Amino acid sequence: CNTCTLYCPEANTLMFDKEGNTSWVDEDRCKGCALCVYVCTDMLDRNCITMEMAGHEE
Ligand code: SF4
Ligand code: SF4
Repeated sequence: CNTCTLYCPEANTLMFDKEGNTSWVDEDRCKGCALCVYVCTDMLDRNCITMEMAGHEE
């Protein structure tokens, strides 16, 4: 639906692919703020996004 991409605060991180009609995340750029999860799950009640914490160096 492309809604989450409009809320992501990071540029070029959560993007919408018009041809495939899908949204996708550049994991290297994602800050893990979880705003997209809030939008998809709590606002839209679609529950399409799950977050998994990768190992993070300080
Ligand atoms: S992940 Fe959720 S908010 Fe994002 S495009 Fe899909 S349905 Fe919409
Ligand atoms: S968790 Fe990542 S992809 Fe989702 S809104 Fe935040 S920076 Fe963007």
